Amino acid sequence: MKLRVGSATDIGRARERNEDSMLVKDRMFAVADGMGGHRGGEVASALSLEGLEAAEVSADGPLAQLVQEVKAANRAVFDRGEKDRELQGMGTTLTAVVVDDETGYLAHVGDSRAYLLREGALQQLTEDHTLVQRLVREGKITAEQAEQHPQRNILTRVLGVDDELEPYELTFDLHDGDRILICSDGLTGMLRDHEIQRILESEPDPQRAAEHLVASANQAGGDDNITVIVLDVGEAPVSSGSSAGASNTATNAREAAPVRNGPRPGVAQTGVITLPAPAAEASADAPRPHGDRPSRRGRAIAWGGLALVVVVALLLAGRIYVSHQWYVGEWNGTVAIYQGVPASPLGFDLSHVERSTHISAADAERLQQWQTLKDGITAESLDDAQSIVNQIEQDLGAAGGAATP
Ligand code: MG
Repeated sequence: MKLRVGSATDIGRARERNEDSMLVKDRMFAVADGMGGHRGGEVASALSLEGLEAAEVSADGPLAQLVQEVKAANRAVFDRGEKDRELQGMGTTLTAVVVDDETGYLAHVGDSRAYLLREGALQQLTEDHTLVQRLVREGKITAEQAEQHPQRNILTRVLGVDDELEPYELTFDLHDGDRILICSDGLTGMLRDHEIQRILESEPDPQRAAEHLVASANQAGGDDNITVIVLDVGEAPVSSGSSAGASNTATNAREAAPVRNGPRPGVAQTGVITLPAPAAEASADAPRPHGDRPSRRGRAIAWGGLALVVVVALLLAGRIYVSHQWYVGEWNGTVAIYQGVPASPLGFDLSHVERSTHISAADAERLQQWQTLKDGITAESLDDAQSIVNQIEQDLGAAGGAATP
């Protein structure tokens, strides 16, 4: 299948260096967004793509080969970080797509993203490996809250910081007229999905689309490095919403196909999805069963009883809720793990210190990624909170800070 590609990368308006890297080679496309002190971010993202660039992904098990290459890249970045003290603790996101005849293969780690635009619908193919995404999945916060969350930059999976890595994997079908977008969070942090979609649909040329996206992210603030690859599949122009209504059997057959195996977060997965598959909305105006109406007095008693039950249930739920919450915060100038929530309504503390450390809170807050420590950094569990503490310690080590034993 014919491919047309456009790409652009930009330092943005707030950063001193561009730590993003990208790869456009034959049928392989990737974006990496590096992080780490000194020049670690640049080195990590570039190094992660070096191996991929040299790799030959053949038609024989392309997904397995791609995943092997990503694991090899992880090992290369990790080993380099171990050898070079200045680069210790560096890491990178990586979102890589290989396109075969009518199939796309994706391997992904971190919070860069891949999207598929098809027939007027923009679908995110990747799931962010972030703390807030985990909270969204568990229903603790909404997707809208996640966009503004102070801890939205905390990653739960990064390439190069551990010697083992399980990337997210996905196989998806490709159609004539599809447009794939691969981008770093410098784009998605500045533009909402509907804005990205509008730009993708307004620029038929992939190179112009890529440049337009970068320019718009800069206009919106350019808080981070911005990298974009736009990939058009087949001969047909990028299909927009207007063609979705066209009634032909093939289109209808595709639309009817359900999502067979969507992203399941938390563990490495291999998924096969058929798109587009707009989820059938649970019908809000579906007929409801009508029961017999109780008398007015009966209803009053029922309401009073119900209110009491609700109050008791809320109190119990609140207690249970608090006992299942964890966060990392400050305690006597040190970093500590708390059970509960970081709030004291009417002077009642809703948390207590579960584990203390000797890590200086002031040192941690000097690092940009831990500035929000004083507000409390939400964790999923005690283990999760401990891994945040470990990360703080690691970052302080990488920054040459003082993490006293
Ligand atoms: Mg970034």
